[in-house]
Amino acid sequence: MRYSLFVTAIASMMLLAQCSTAQNNTTMTDKSNNPYYSRTDTKKLNVPNSEWKKILPSGVYNIAREQGTEYAFSGKYWKTDVKGTYYCAVCGNPLFKSTAKFASSCGWPSFFETLKKNSVNYLPDDTHGMSRIEVECGRCESHLGHIFDDGPAPTYKRYCMNSAVLDFEEDK
Ligand code: FE
Repeated sequence: MRYSLFVTAIASMMLLAQCSTAQNNTTMTDKSNNPYYSRTDTKKLNVPNSEWKKILPSGVYNIAREQGTEYAFSGKYWKTDVKGTYYCAVCGNPLFKSTAKFASSCGWPSFFETLKKNSVNYLPDDTHGMSRIEVECGRCESHLGHIFDDGPAPTYKRYCMNSAVLDFEEDK
């Protein structure tokens, strides 16, 4: 009896481990409370932060709408190399293909080019005593990260992004 309980417990743990791996490799969190989320609508959004605050999880809101940054090596995508597409976690705008992702030692997901030219906007950012270029979503203007000139060929750019504002969908 005790042995069968032990076997059941081990089997349950293995099942749980499999489920969490599958979740990491597939899709996004639930967007049913987000009426602005679309992966096909290209119309630009003009939604006030008071509205986003009601919709977004606090960790996403902090980065997307308050220019926050997640800790290096903490996000879910910094070292993944699964084939697929990365979307804005706020509005669903397609941002990057995994083929433009490269292994960077910085601890944040890094890409050398965007999916489309207008996927993102670029803004000067002189906060925190640095002179950087901020990257925001081209559709909803949420903060995504920064761009640097130390990326690989062919662009030599490094889009240094926050995992929390990205949704990933694996290629079928
Ligand atoms: Fe967006």
